[in-house]
Amino acid sequence: MKNNKQYKSKKNVKRPTGQKSEPVEVKCIASDESGRGLIEYENKRISIPYLIEGEKALVRISKQGKHTNAKIVSIKEKSKNRVEPKCKYFYECGGCQLQHLSYEAQLSLKENYVRNLMKPFGKVQNIISMENPYDYRNKIHSAFASTRDREIVSGFYKEFSHEIIPIERCIIQDERADKILKTIRELVKSFKIKPYKEDYQEGFLRHVLIKTGFKSNQIMVVFVVSNKIFPSKNNFMKVLREKHPEISTIIMNINNKSTSVVLGNNEMVVYGKGVIEDTLCGFTFQISAKSFYQINPIQTEKLYNKAIEFANLKGNETVLDAYSGIGTISLIASKKASEVIGVEINRDAVQNAIKNARINKVNNVKFYQGDAGEFMMALANDKTHIDTVFMDPPRNGSDEKFLSSVASLKPKKIVYISCNPTTQARDLKYLTSRGYRVDKIQPVDMFPHTSHVECCVLLVKNK
Ligand code: SAH
Repeated sequence: MKNNKQYKSKKNVKRPTGQKSEPVEVKCIASDESGRGLIEYENKRISIPYLIEGEKALVRISKQGKHTNAKIVSIKEKSKNRVEPKCKYFYECGGCQLQHLSYEAQLSLKENYVRNLMKPFGKVQNIISMENPYDYRNKIHSAFASTRDREIVSGFYKEFSHEIIPIERCIIQDERADKILKTIRELVKSFKIKPYKEDYQEGFLRHVLIKTGFKSNQIMVVFVVSNKIFPSKNNFMKVLREKHPEISTIIMNINNKSTSVVLGNNEMVVYGKGVIEDTLCGFTFQISAKSFYQINPIQTEKLYNKAIEFANLKGNETVLDAYSGIGTISLIASKKASEVIGVEINRDAVQNAIKNARINKVNNVKFYQGDAGEFMMALANDKTHIDTVFMDPPRNGSDEKFLSSVASLKPKKIVYISCNPTTQARDLKYLTSRGYRVDKIQPVDMFPHTSHVECCVLLVKNK
């Protein structure tokens, strides 16, 4: 992994004999946190996509300014963990990083990454895996384009470009979405609708976003378009709905800006309620086109159940849910607590959270809109009593305002959920220097085949 001591060894690289552009034979000595193989070359660490620890390979090394890049030419000694990627777009797409590794090897890569990071804090439990690590994404974005021979394609943008990789089936996504996308491609062609061209900023259909409720089976289709005038809209939607009666709601989102942000501000409901619902840990959540909702509902239930288990609530606690989103953790914790306070910066998410509390008839939660750090400082100034804190910050972690206020409020327990264990470890270092010890560390595989890993940590106040 990242700080692996093996790194310092220079023995396992054969120096190139000819020109630098000639392939050189290398041995992969470790993996980095994104699953790339690491080699040592001219006293530098170089990471190589799709190379696996222990493998020997011929690689081509090139230099661009200060950067040294390397690509596999051929693999000389294969790792036993190497498998044929199930997805035919894997090496082009970039959405997944680990399909060349068996699922078992992916899990141990993620587990080792968390173990290395968490070494100073304690023992890491075995990662919670996914039984069937496919078809899990409930939110699917697809960009549209027309090819030179006027075929309509949809898929993902190639990294750093406006070029679309046409995708018919993405094996980590809900298959129902791929089937709807296929119909939409056919309809776009027969209705002569023009896909949007990013480079020229012309055309109509930019993206299609599909959200699916795994438990409710409700499906939302969002057409992201450049203006309000959808050609033959009624007919188009009629045919789409006839072919896919499973669609619950259709939305037109107008985005006329030259931007990489998918959704614009202006939204029109074309069919249905404009929202779908889904169930998580026995609670119903309303999901709009824009609201944040965890993308792997099967693993999210496992993660939240673990967080609730770590908190071990008795029923009389005051709980704070920081970075509360649409109120998922708040509502789930409310069953077992006296009261819950949620704080979240995004206004729409707070509105969703308030509505979700109402839908579920939960009366002991209050949601506040604002910066979690500022909010926590105000609570600390008022010496508000808090027993348990759940915190689930974005990838860059929490900040000192928040953490120092938590430390001065002294809740008995902190359950810290993170989608970025690196920033989590940084924050744990702070909290363990301010009166807490780490009691449990639980990684969860929320995003199989990608290099991302989620981690739930229980901290308890020192006696
Ligand atoms: N706990 C929720 C959401 C987690 S995602 C869930 O599991 O669904 C992280 C959330 O933190 C996002 O909703 C984001 O809007 C919010 N956020 C980001 N920065 C914040 C800040 N400074 N203060 C409060 N909330 C913030």
